Amino acid sequence: MDLTPAAGGSRTPSFLSFHARDVLIVATLIFLAAIAGSLSRPIGFLAAFWPANAVLAGVLVRSQRLRTLPVILGAAAGYLAAAVVIGDSLRLALVLTGGNLLGVLAFMLLFGSLEPEDRALSRPQGVISLLLMACAASAAAGIVGGVALSEITGLSYFEAWAGWFAAELVNYLAFLPVLLTVPPPSKWLPLPKLRAGRAWRLLLPVVVLGAAIGLSLLVAHPVAIVFPVPALIWCALALPLAATAVLVMIYSGLAMIGIKLGLFDLGLGADVTGDAITAVHMAVALVALGPMVIASVNAERRRRIEQLERLARHDSLTDALTRSTFMDEGIRLLSQLLEEQAAVAVLVLDADHFKQINDVHGHPSGDRVLVAVAAAIRTAIRQGDLFGRIGGEEFALVLPRVTRREAQAVAERMRKAVANLAVVLESGNLQRITVSIGVAFDVASSGGLSEMVSLADRAMYEAKRAGRDQVVVSDLDGSERPPMH
Ligand code: GH3
Ligand code: MG
Ligand code: MG
Repeated sequence: MDLTPAAGGSRTPSFLSFHARDVLIVATLIFLAAIAGSLSRPIGFLAAFWPANAVLAGVLVRSQRLRTLPVILGAAAGYLAAAVVIGDSLRLALVLTGGNLLGVLAFMLLFGSLEPEDRALSRPQGVISLLLMACAASAAAGIVGGVALSEITGLSYFEAWAGWFAAELVNYLAFLPVLLTVPPPSKWLPLPKLRAGRAWRLLLPVVVLGAAIGLSLLVAHPVAIVFPVPALIWCALALPLAATAVLVMIYSGLAMIGIKLGLFDLGLGADVTGDAITAVHMAVALVALGPMVIASVNAERRRRIEQLERLARHDSLTDALTRSTFMDEGIRLLSQLLEEQAAVAVLVLDADHFKQINDVHGHPSGDRVLVAVAAAIRTAIRQGDLFGRIGGEEFALVLPRVTRREAQAVAERMRKAVANLAVVLESGNLQRITVSIGVAFDVASSGGLSEMVSLADRAMYEAKRAGRDQVVVSDLDGSERPPMH
């Protein structure tokens, strides 16, 4: 199933069959999740595990395409079919399904209206919203679900409502972080390649978490339930958000099973299915929310740092590398090429008569022309080439592993791409522009970057003197080719 948010209006012509497939998938998914949940249902009480509502809520929040009436009706059919298979009366099945759907729809409406970053829990506010909105949805679900529960258990309506509320909330908190953060299956492969040192840094907290869970089961004291929390916090700091969500789910799941099996002496006696147990489940789910908040803060921090690094490395007008980044990366690239004894070309491009454009049409129009020139240059570069803005209307490139002929051809392509531009200015007028290009070529990368840039710069001035809008190639050994036009 495609869990990427569907772009509006991207429906295919086979809309009906596509739609039927979605309905069928969701109905089957809910049927299976409800059967799995029902199997964990102790006689007369709510299921210990009920992933179906969280699955449906997660799917509906993530995929706009699935937020349709037929899909929701399909899910309802899935719930009903599971209840009937398990042996509930039709009336009970209808009330249970009503309660389940009411909660899911309330959650979808509330949480689905948040910003995408919050919905993906990649901001800590998202985790807090998840808690608040899961509370609201569970409270709503309990209004209908409480009717069924009080009938089954003989509890008062309010007690039944509270029981449903707590069970629903625990399940949302256990499963939704995973469903909201796991990348769509299309992004699972290829797995990122990790160096051994980094792999260990990711693996170690997971190993420690495993040990802490083992220890807590061994000690079996009620307080031991929270032993793994520090390891979870470590995981939250070291691992991606989705991985933390999966570990949090595993921890809460194991803790709940442990409580259910009576592994922790909670002093509940034989009452391992009543209110007290629900309260302990809720405590575990709420405690596990802490590491999720940390993972989310960390994810946001990583994202912001990446943004800042990108801003610092790129020129904001043209998106080319800044001069200092271009020089730093160029030096690194050239020393690598020197080891390989590979050929390299450095290009310097300068816009012709650019001052006139500013003088006649104003600085903002000049900026537009610069943006268009940078975009035209970019059409002629390959992956691995460095492209920087080294002066006002001056750009430079490092082309690794090229022949002299290729470098000259790339420069020619850039010259033509720029000469073919007709930039629309703010006034609506069209502006033509040309560039003069100097190429410095070195067969074995033996020259330094500054030397090659100044050589290319001199060749560029040669192109200016020869009449502009042309390419001049200079070799590191001093020979120079006449301008090519
Ligand atoms: P030539 O063909 O000899 O290169 O002539 P030119 O007019 O391009 O050369 P000159 O160096 O005299 O002028 C460069 C102009 O580029 C002057 C400066 O105002 C303008 N410039 C530099 N940076 C920017 C910028 O970021 N935006 C705009 N709009 N203009 C800029
Ligand atoms: Mg110029
Ligand atoms: Mg200049």
